[in-house]
Amino acid sequence: MTTTTVVWLRDDLRLADNPALRHAADDGDVVVLYVLDERSDGVRPLGGAARWWLHHSLRALAAAVHDAGARLVLRRGAAVDVVPAVVTDARADAVVWNRRYGGSEREIDAAIKAWAGEHAVEAHSFAANLLHEPWTITTGAGGPFRVYSPFLRACRRAEEPRDPVPAVHRLSGPDVASDDLGDWGLHPTAPDWSAGLAAQWEPGEAGAGRRLADFVDGILAGYDTSRERPGVEGTSRLSPHLRFGEISPFQVRAAVAGASPREDRDAFLAEIHWREFNWHLLYAQPDLATVNHRAKFDGMPWRHAPADLRAWQRGRTGYPLVDAGIRQLWQTGWMHNRVRMITASFLIKNLLLDWRAGEQWFWDTLVDADAANNPANWQWAAGSGADAFPYVRVFNPVTQARKFDADGDYITRFVPELAGRSGSALHEPWGDDPPPDYPAPMIDLKDTRRRALDAYAAIGASG
Ligand code: FAD
Repeated sequence: MTTTTVVWLRDDLRLADNPALRHAADDGDVVVLYVLDERSDGVRPLGGAARWWLHHSLRALAAAVHDAGARLVLRRGAAVDVVPAVVTDARADAVVWNRRYGGSEREIDAAIKAWAGEHAVEAHSFAANLLHEPWTITTGAGGPFRVYSPFLRACRRAEEPRDPVPAVHRLSGPDVASDDLGDWGLHPTAPDWSAGLAAQWEPGEAGAGRRLADFVDGILAGYDTSRERPGVEGTSRLSPHLRFGEISPFQVRAAVAGASPREDRDAFLAEIHWREFNWHLLYAQPDLATVNHRAKFDGMPWRHAPADLRAWQRGRTGYPLVDAGIRQLWQTGWMHNRVRMITASFLIKNLLLDWRAGEQWFWDTLVDADAANNPANWQWAAGSGADAFPYVRVFNPVTQARKFDADGDYITRFVPELAGRSGSALHEPWGDDPPPDYPAPMIDLKDTRRRALDAYAAIGASG
């Protein structure tokens, strides 16, 4: 008799290097399932930009599963109910998935494993989305790392990550009822604000593969320096593809292996390991998005200033690089890493607003909004995180712009009010000839820097 296995896909929307799917397809018939679980307590609901991405990624996945001979089954509801129901409907013998590392997600998976055990259904899970699962990298004392550099060294000493698993090309299985993707309302309507996202991105496994190939063939050589310049396409832009698991870090690692120059490859792999590190942190602290890693930050005198938050969210602070970054985010669902650091510093230090307000805004607007990378980076920027940015360093957005976007290629792309300007007229446009339709700076950089340092000193933060 043929075995039937339900493969429950989550943040691994791909047919290549998918160990759970590979295992099921090798074993017999397969039901490929995706569950939109917006009802489980504790699973963070996706933000708007990520919902747009998910819609298109699922559409691409459904087409790929169809081409392989099967159907992607879509169901909505609490996964603890839906997955057992689909296993029962399909009269499946087994359910498999690739592991995830958030706290609530682990609880759900454990509950389904327990259900399977009680109903004579086999349940297996696989490692697929991190090169090193969080518990496999430990300090000498056996605990989690809190500092990136020794974590990276420990990863390098650890067992070599495996090669990618061959893609699945043929699938067969029973027909199981599915929701219609269009009914899920993931794609925005009334208004449909997604044109800028669609112009920039190709969600799905094929798009991820093309992005990786373009990166390896072109941008990678020179990455170590060009990645700091927001005005050029100097990074891989793989983050949303990695976020939704349309490509795995094993595939990325294999694709860059042997690439030269070595400094560029190493710099790129170091960034991939920041992602590993942040998931390591989230595994150790599941409430990373809401709770300061360093408890003394609970006493931070954050300001309550909704109008200031709104000016930041709208890209109307009067500081060109900050506004360009925020507008890039709004228009394309992505922001360059250096500018993410600068906009975060501006919100936290110059405006003295709680990092959680910025984290939530990024969560809602980033296509790569990631349950580990977003809060960990915000806590890093605030100084409240594990391996945090020194609190005494406050990015000066004018100096940063002069250094990393001297000619204003990036700024003028997203802040058209400053088009045609250069030098001080561009970087400090509040001088002799202020642009009529661009806001004056909302705060004084020096005064607010001092205010931030006083606040940090008051809670006894050490940088
Ligand atoms: P590349 O430079 O090509 O790097 C390759 C991959 O490495 C990225 O795709 C990403 O998976 C990983 N990576 C790179 N930098 C970092 C980093 N600092 N931390 C963790 N992983 C990294 N990244 C997200 O994926 N999701 C988020 O929600 C997110 N929020 C952030 C919030 C703030 C305040 C800051 C400062 C950074 C945030 N980042 C986040 C990290 C980083 O900005 C993005 O991963 C990067 O800009 C993505 O572009 P890329 O794929 O071209 O990166």
